Amino acid sequence: MNSAEKLKEMLMQFPSVGPRQAERFIYFILSRSKAWKKEFANLIEQVQQEVELCPACFRFYQKNHKNNSGICSICANNQRDNALMVVLNNTDLKNIEKSGSYTGKYFVIGGLAPSVGKAGTFRMQELIAILKKTEFTEIILAMPATVDGDYTTEYIKHEIIKTLPEYKDKISVLGRGLSRGVELEYADPATIKEAIKNKKTIF
Ligand SMILES: [Zn+2]
Repeated sequence: MNSAEKLKEMLMQFPSVGPRQAERFIYFILSRSKAWKKEFANLIEQVQQEVELCPACFRFYQKNHKNNSGICSICANNQRDNALMVVLNNTDLKNIEKSGSYTGKYFVIGGLAPSVGKAGTFRMQELIAILKKTEFTEIILAMPATVDGDYTTEYIKHEIIKTLPEYKDKISVLGRGLSRGVELEYADPATIKEAIKNKKTIF
């Protein structure tokens, strides 16, 4: 396999990128100047050095050399509520955080439940481990408002209660100010605020 083919294979691993789009990206990269390509390659290298995965919530965060606590600024902030919101990915977390309507902690589960999600990271065991270590006042499951999202919510709820029955009355889901099919990633701050305000326990 030559380097262009390898690059195509790698680009196809990106979310929602198929073979034709991967090829378009490659031609785009090839058409850029040498300096552009060099910067692109350097930035990938740099991002790897500067951004780290938080071992507590599994979000990517910019390393801060002054405050090197080993966890991200959200996890390290004692002023935040002791609620835990389980989100699908970093993009959703960022969007909810930007809305300013949530002041608890987060956990990035990384994917949909195994039977509906593409093979990838689904951090069920990691979530259980964190729930065993810290007692949260509430767990809010903020999965996408889709059939697969609902299935994943049920799956997570079931897995938590199986191991930690004391959480039975402490699990809630976002209220559906969010229309069906709208991903949190695209929801505006007002919609997110409504969804959090209208969250409800699932028992
Ligand atoms: Zn964190």
